[in-house]
Amino acid sequence: MFLGILKETAPGETRVALLPESLKSLLAQGISITVESGAGLAAGASDAEYCEAGASVSADRASILANADLLPLVNAPSAADQVQLKPHAVVIGFLKPLDAPHTLTPAIDRPVTLFSMELVPRISRAQSMDALSSMATVAGYKAVIAAADRLPRLFPMLMTAAGTIPPARVFVIGAGVAGLQAIATARRLGAVVEAYDVRAAAGEQVRSLGAKFLDVDLGGISAEGGGGYAAELTEEALDRGRDLITRTSAHSDVIVTTAQVPGRPAPRLIRRAAVEAMRPGSVLVDLAAPAGGNCELTQPGVTQTLGGVTLLAPLNLPAEVPVDASRLYARNILNFLALIVKKGQLSLDLTDEVLAGACVAHQGLPVNARVAKLLGALATPPG
Ligand code: NAD
Repeated sequence: MFLGILKETAPGETRVALLPESLKSLLAQGISITVESGAGLAAGASDAEYCEAGASVSADRASILANADLLPLVNAPSAADQVQLKPHAVVIGFLKPLDAPHTLTPAIDRPVTLFSMELVPRISRAQSMDALSSMATVAGYKAVIAAADRLPRLFPMLMTAAGTIPPARVFVIGAGVAGLQAIATARRLGAVVEAYDVRAAAGEQVRSLGAKFLDVDLGGISAEGGGGYAAELTEEALDRGRDLITRTSAHSDVIVTTAQVPGRPAPRLIRRAAVEAMRPGSVLVDLAAPAGGNCELTQPGVTQTLGGVTLLAPLNLPAEVPVDASRLYARNILNFLALIVKKGQLSLDLTDEVLAGACVAHQGLPVNARVAKLLGALATPPG
C-alpha cells in the first residue's frame, strides 16, 4: 500500500499532514511512503529528514496523486488534483464538506473515499483524533500572542523603580477550546482576564484558569446545544450578551472572540458601539472570522484600524505556528489512520461510529446525510 504526503497548495498554508516523526508505525506495517519534495519545509521538516525516517521523496506530484492509496492532507485537494487521484483511494483532511460540498464532487465521482477531520464525532473514544480541538488550541494561543505584539502596552503588572505599570485587561468571548487556551495564555503573560460564554458550564473552567466569568441572565433560555456545544440563541438573548460585551469593551485592552455555533454563521455579538468604546491602541482578534466573524465590523482575512483600534480577522492562525500545529495534526491523523489501516492493509468498517461520522463519501456516493442533502443526492447508509 502506498501513502502520499503532498505539499499543501492553499494560499498561506504552511502545515503538513504527517511529519517525519509520524512515519515509524506506518512503515513498520510495510506501507510505502512517498513525500512530495518540500512538503514539510515550512513546518520545519526537510526532505532529508523524511528520507532518514524511511520515506522516498519525489518532485513528481502527479505520480503521488495517481499512486497513493492513502492520502492524508491538511486541506481539501484542488479540483485539478482531485481528477488525478487513484480510484478507490482514501483521502483524509479538513475537507470543508458542509461549507463547500460541491468542490468535492470530482473526488466523489472518481470515486475516492473521503474522510473529513471536521466531522470526526466529538466523543471520548475519538478525542485523540479531534483535529478541530488541536487547531483551536493553537489558534487561541496565537491570538493572544498576536494581540500582545500589537498592543502598545505591556501585559503583566510591573513594579519598577520608575513606578508601577498596571496589567493589561483581556476579555475573551466564547470559552470553548480556543477561548480557554486564550485565557490561559493571557494569564501566563500576566494580564487580568474576564470571559463570557453563553454556556453556564464554561464558568467553572474559566474560573479554574484564574479569570473572572461574566454571567448573563438569559431569562431561562437554555443555551446548551448537544455535545457540549452552544445552541443558536434568539435575538433577544443575543442582545443581552451584546449589552454585556459593549459594557466590558470599554475597559478592555484586548478582546479575543471565539464564539461559534456548529453549522451556523458565527453569532454577531460585538456591535460597532463596542469597538468605538475601546481605547485607541486596543486590539480585537476575531477568531470566528472563518465563519463570518463575531464583530459586525469584521472583514474576514483583513486587518483594519478603526478609530485607533486594531481589528484582526485571521483565517488560518494555526498556519502561523506550523511546527506544532503540524505535530498535533499529524498525531490526530495517525490516530485516525489506526482505525482504517490494519497490518498494512486498508480495512474500512463504516459501521464504526467514528468512521461513519467522519465519512463524507464512499464508492461514488455521499455517506454523510448533511453533505448528501447539500449535494441534492441520497445518502448511502454506512456499511
Ligand atoms: P465552538 O468553537 O463551537 O464555540 C466556541 C465557544 O463559543 C463555545 O464555548 C460556545 O459555547 C461559545 N458561544 C457560542 N455562541 C455564543 C454566544 N452567543 N455568546 C457567547 N458564547 C457563545 O466550540 P468548541 O470550542 O469547539 O467546543 C465547545 C465545547 O465542546 C467545549 O468546551 C467542550 O465542552 C466540548 N468539546 C467536547 C469534545 C469531546 O468530547 N471530544 C471536544 C471538543 C469540545
